[in-house]
Amino acid sequence: MNRWSLMGEFLALMILAIIFIRYYAYEGRVVYTRKKKVFLFCLLAAAVSTLLNIITVILIFYPGAAPIWLGVLLNSGYFLFLGGTCSLFALFMFLLILEHVYDQHCMKLALAALSILFALHVLMVLQNLFTGTLFYYDETGCYQRGAWNRSVFLLPMLQLVLLLVCYIRNRASVHPSTVYVMWIMPPVVLLLCLFQVFYPDFLLNGILCAFVSLILFLSFQTYTGDQDSLTGVRSRNSFMAELSLRVGGQQPFQVIVVSLLSFSDINLRYGHATGDAILYETARYLDQLYPQGHAFRTGNVMFTLMLPWDSQEQAAQRLWAIRDRFCAPWVLGELSCELPCCMADLCYHGGGTAAEVMDQLEYTLMLAKAGRSVVRFDESIRRRMRRKQELIEIMHEAIQQNRFRVWYQPIYCCHHNLFCSAEALLRLNDRSGTPVPPSVFIPLAEETGMINDLTWIVLEEICRLLSSGVIPGLKTVSLNLSMQQLLDPDLASRIQRYLTQYGLRPDCLKVEITERFLLHDARYAKQQLSSLAAIGIQIYMDDFGTGYSNLSSVLDYPFSYIKLDRSLILHVLEDTHAELMVHTLLSLFHSLGKRVVVEGVEDGQLADYLKRCGADMIQGFYYAAPMPREELISFFSEQNL
Ligand code: C2E
Ligand code: MG
Ligand code: MG
Repeated sequence: MNRWSLMGEFLALMILAIIFIRYYAYEGRVVYTRKKKVFLFCLLAAAVSTLLNIITVILIFYPGAAPIWLGVLLNSGYFLFLGGTCSLFALFMFLLILEHVYDQHCMKLALAALSILFALHVLMVLQNLFTGTLFYYDETGCYQRGAWNRSVFLLPMLQLVLLLVCYIRNRASVHPSTVYVMWIMPPVVLLLCLFQVFYPDFLLNGILCAFVSLILFLSFQTYTGDQDSLTGVRSRNSFMAELSLRVGGQQPFQVIVVSLLSFSDINLRYGHATGDAILYETARYLDQLYPQGHAFRTGNVMFTLMLPWDSQEQAAQRLWAIRDRFCAPWVLGELSCELPCCMADLCYHGGGTAAEVMDQLEYTLMLAKAGRSVVRFDESIRRRMRRKQELIEIMHEAIQQNRFRVWYQPIYCCHHNLFCSAEALLRLNDRSGTPVPPSVFIPLAEETGMINDLTWIVLEEICRLLSSGVIPGLKTVSLNLSMQQLLDPDLASRIQRYLTQYGLRPDCLKVEITERFLLHDARYAKQQLSSLAAIGIQIYMDDFGTGYSNLSSVLDYPFSYIKLDRSLILHVLEDTHAELMVHTLLSLFHSLGKRVVVEGVEDGQLADYLKRCGADMIQGFYYAAPMPREELISFFSEQNL
């Protein structure tokens, strides 16, 4: 009598049950993606074939307990189910391998090959009914293995070969967790199949299915962080992974980023629950818009749609369709609201790295946010990006090689009819020696954090100049500060350390701050400026009148001087309203105890007029443009006679 061990099969059933409970029953709110559905079928098929195996083996243990025809039926069913289970697992693996491949050609080939193999397997099981090559019942009613019994393992082996070929062809686009599966699963399947061929009395078919399910289940665990819990669409992590897989496989795609603007207004107006519901709606809309497209929540109020790229026309159509949808109101029950947004669009046609594509996307989005509009990545944006990259390199080099220069623009003191002060302004030349305007490199320095180094370079230059005493008439020099310095808790003590090191009094340094920086964190900025004022450094509000400044800031912060921007005084001589405004501002600031510097004065008539109006200081090309230190020395000695 056959005495085969069923231990493995019972163990397999337990493993399958645990996976099922953990994956489908325990996680109450399961989103049934195609992948999850196929995996569920795999688990069910594995459980049924294992159960059939147990039943048939028990019947084999007790010959005569059931009629032979039932034994033949159950055994044939078992062989069929085993083939079906292997085919389902193989299908699932193909889906995993090709998950990030837009081209359906491979999937179609895989489906055809799997169907043919399964059909051959069915034929083999059916022909056994007449030939007994897989199994038969002898004249005593006992189950006997046929001559080809072990050939059932040919099916998983051939499927494994197909999977390996498909994996090798598409490996650049295979998700890392699938790569892990492909490293572990083939050796496990191979070993178990070989073991089964050589030791057929240990029944391991169920264990084989259970091991494969377990390996797949474990690989799923790495996916759990890939879904956004609020909207159910994929997360930012998932987008990054998908992007590198698509770029790795050189698959053309289109990415559309939709960034919602002023979403805090929606939350304030309708409450956070409604805000969440609107985010859910927008995410679902984008996710379901095109069958081959996936939406990702790549920021709090930012969604990214990734689609296969076919043609420029189609890409443009999709973009404008989404733009039009966001121009129309969103209706949620009784509520109807507008969702202003900006959009960035990028079409990838191969080449480059995922990091480069990500940089291009971020740069395009930055432009879109700045203009609150739709921006498509193109050649001109690529050139601008390259120039930006090049400038950042030039700036790093210039810091290392000490090539930044500090120039000074003299400031005329109206009360003493003398030049008494100067503003320190940074200068940089690119590799060809062409000057790069500060309006270009200062924002870059602020963006990259280089502004910190640059500020200390300028301060040190100022200290050197003042402590050398080469310009006796130069009483004070002003230093421009950026946001980053205002955020540095060590700012006041660091400036003081420089002054002490060069033996300078704090009142010879003035710092200039544009009000735009104060808006960022008003309380902290005020605290910082107060600590500067406390050590005796005078503070200028720079660029008053450029659109950010307002009078309450003038009162709120410890400014001693207000610098009126050039835009305010441009039309003073020909426009009576402009004249009235400057006049009023000067007397208002004076009555508030502030002194006024007027910037950007380019002609003598205007300078005379401003003097008559009571301006305290004047700075502008009429008197002098910014100049290097040596020129400043001769300028002061010639002018302040
Ligand atoms: P700002 O602080 O308002 O500096 C005055 C700017 O006006 C300077 O431009 C100066 O050359 C220009 N200017 C002076 N007089 C006239 C005039 O009569 N007509 C015209 N059209 N322009 C005049 P510059 O040197 O190009 O600097 C631009 C901005 O870059 C500065 O504006 C400042 O915000 C920033 N900047 C320059 N150096 C530094 C620095 O060391 N640190 C920081 N944080 N910012 C700096
Ligand atoms: Mg300034
Ligand atoms: Mg200014």
